[in-house]
Amino acid sequence: FAPWNDPGAAALIEFRGVTKRFGEFTAIDTLDLKIYPKEFFALLGPSGCGKTTLMRMLGGFETPTEGTIEIDGQDMARVPPNKRAVNMMFQSYALFPHLTVRDNIAFGLKREGMEAAARKARVDEVMRMVQLGALGSRKPHQISGGQRQRVALARSLAKAPKLLLLDEPLGALDKKLREETQFELMEIQETTGTTFVIVTHDQEEAMTVASRVAVMREGRIVQVDVPERIYEAPNSVYVADFIGDVNLLEGRARQSGSGVVVDVAEGVSLTAEGMAEGAVTYAVRPEKVSISGERPETPNAVRGKVIDIGYLGGSSTYHVELPSGHVVKAATANTRRVAARAFDWEDEVWLGWSGTAGLVLER
Ligand code: ATP
Repeated sequence: FAPWNDPGAAALIEFRGVTKRFGEFTAIDTLDLKIYPKEFFALLGPSGCGKTTLMRMLGGFETPTEGTIEIDGQDMARVPPNKRAVNMMFQSYALFPHLTVRDNIAFGLKREGMEAAARKARVDEVMRMVQLGALGSRKPHQISGGQRQRVALARSLAKAPKLLLLDEPLGALDKKLREETQFELMEIQETTGTTFVIVTHDQEEAMTVASRVAVMREGRIVQVDVPERIYEAPNSVYVADFIGDVNLLEGRARQSGSGVVVDVAEGVSLTAEGMAEGAVTYAVRPEKVSISGERPETPNAVRGKVIDIGYLGGSSTYHVELPSGHVVKAATANTRRVAARAFDWEDEVWLGWSGTAGLVLER
């Protein structure tokens, strides 16, 4: 399943040169994007980068200033929201407080004129899907936040849309419930075969649920790819820094053999694969950096002093200051029971990592 690698695959959604302006302000800037059937697609980016605007244009609640949006090969320019095979689940859930859970879920079906028996069967089906069980006769104020989230999801799935838009659907849930619900969402997405587009500012959530992630910045998509490549092969300092933790060191690159050497400071030259020259940023993820008492046999080995330790249970992050003043973080997985810290504040340590762990990013 990788239709984005298949030039012949038909997209479900296609943005062509889409710009959205609010007065003088450009919220979306000449954006091109294809989303394929059955994808779980995540839009990720900081507040104000245009994620919601993009979703609202898909749903038909905003019209592009320029460019076209096609769904299933059809231009959406003159198609109102209720005529699109699209449903949107809002951040606020927007449930009717005076209606029961069942009636909330049935609302759209009833308005569409579906007859009572079919409606009941469909409501039962989606309630089972989101595990709402015996809550059908309760009102929204008589159920928990997590359950309200399920009702909203059930309601948005009831009409079996081709495309479901989810704007921060799990934003109101606590961390544990949120993580559980992520897996349920993935399961529902898979069993229904609905294309999901989710907006989130939580990078871990995007990486967990999505088949592909688009990282946005100021109305543009800066990288779109599978989560593994977004994380392991970010195309810019912006993406590397936005997704996960990363060490960033500025320096000058020169070609050496088949790889690159980046001179970061006097006596600190770091290697990476690929080609680059001139001013660059050298990046390495903390979990790819090992920490030891002795010089490691890795292509990159630097000595420094522990200045900070973060113990996270499953892992620990050591902040190590090099003689040049740079601070490099090394994260170690605590795979065995940790009785005491492997290293302490002020300890002199070595950091090491391979050449393939290093990334050279243009500034
Ligand atoms: P958040 O994560 O905070 O929800 P977002 O990435 O979803 O942010 P949008 O809501 O799409 O961002 O907004 C993008 C930009 O467009 C923001 O700077 C916002 O102020 C602006 N904007 C959105 N809607 C309007 C509007 N109706 N009129 C004027 N400006 C708007």
